[in-house]
Amino acid sequence: MKRKRAFNLILFFLILFCSILPPLFPQTYADTDIISVEKTSQVIKKLQEMDLDLLMEWKGRIYIVLHHERDDPSKLEQSQIAYRVETSNFYPFNQKDISIQSGVNGDYHTYQELERDLVALEENYPHLVRLHDIGKSLEGRNIYALKISDNVSLDENEAEVLFIGCHHAREWISVEVPYLLGKYLVENYGSNPRVRDLVDHSQIWIVPLLNPDGLEYSVYFYRYWRKNRRYNGPGSYGVDINRNYDYMWGFDNEGSSPDTFSEVYRGPAPFSEPETQAIHDLFLQRKFQALISYHNYSQVILYPWGYTTEPSPKDALLSEMARNMSQLIRSESGRIYEFGAAGSQLYLTNGDTTDWALGIYDTPAFTIELPPIDELQGGFFNAEEDISTIFQENLPAALYLIEWSIQNYASEIPSPEKEADHKEKTTQTRTFKN
Ligand SMILES: [Zn+2]
Repeated sequence: MKRKRAFNLILFFLILFCSILPPLFPQTYADTDIISVEKTSQVIKKLQEMDLDLLMEWKGRIYIVLHHERDDPSKLEQSQIAYRVETSNFYPFNQKDISIQSGVNGDYHTYQELERDLVALEENYPHLVRLHDIGKSLEGRNIYALKISDNVSLDENEAEVLFIGCHHAREWISVEVPYLLGKYLVENYGSNPRVRDLVDHSQIWIVPLLNPDGLEYSVYFYRYWRKNRRYNGPGSYGVDINRNYDYMWGFDNEGSSPDTFSEVYRGPAPFSEPETQAIHDLFLQRKFQALISYHNYSQVILYPWGYTTEPSPKDALLSEMARNMSQLIRSESGRIYEFGAAGSQLYLTNGDTTDWALGIYDTPAFTIELPPIDELQGGFFNAEEDISTIFQENLPAALYLIEWSIQNYASEIPSPEKEADHKEKTTQTRTFKN
């Protein structure tokens, strides 16, 4: 009962707070609370049946967004799950931690800001950069890919490597890291022999913002938005585009969901979404040696499989590469990124980018979950001051992946056609979404 009163009190202040905020932070937060529950195997089991919007795990607790229009907190009480209301620990209360001096989202890019900066990059470095439009979002925004190479307008016989950002709208830092990688490569090409060597001997593709509609929605309307903006029918929006790829798509309802309201809704069919279709089409035209897909919070490097806890045929190689990247990050900043196969390290996922890239194209593919900042207080969303640190610590790992791709280019050319030979099923228990 006490808890309920505290809950209502917080809700009251939340509404009050939202009503005095500038209009760009609308009242939608009033429909939402952040709660945390202790992470035990019993709780996990009960949560599996509830299809809640899981934010993260932190210090032995699981953080969940409660959407009041569809999640009833009394369900948790009925299941005897004790929860703590954490809303006040999170943005928008902690304005100072996610300061907004340079626009609604601070130094983070909106779609338009990114578009402007990508165009500028091409204008300033025309001999190294081509800006490609590889698809259109549902709301008509361009999905941009930067190609960086010497002789950039030619298709050369060189290794190709891909970096993708922002499958998930609320993971703003995942736009910045690949964008800054592109900027770094071209700005240092003239002065840094290693960068020059990498750029000269590879074709680097960067898609910093795969989910532009989702990002805009997250910036202007609802900070916690995750999916794209597909209209699924009354009251339901969004497909989780990192569950929409066609390898083990819909393998089970644990690694993705058939429920349109779910945060991990996989869409009506594989590649039903223009965002995943853009990556699909890019793969048809290029031959990628390796890729990194950036996400955030967890501070971990993941590789396939995600759909099962069984090791992939490339497990030893992927593990070695992930270990190397983890060590490079650690020697840069001291921060430890754990690494492992996604399905056994974090939680099951099916239809994600990396399983598809490995399963269909045999391409070593990694998900890097970028860090949260050290403290929960306002730190769930990285402050703009942390963008540069997080980029800097990830830079050596990205350069390593390019270098690895160059070194392994001649020895192995992936074969684009091997679709149907993976259909065996295994059963698994474990759930979580990110
Ligand atoms: Zn993500």
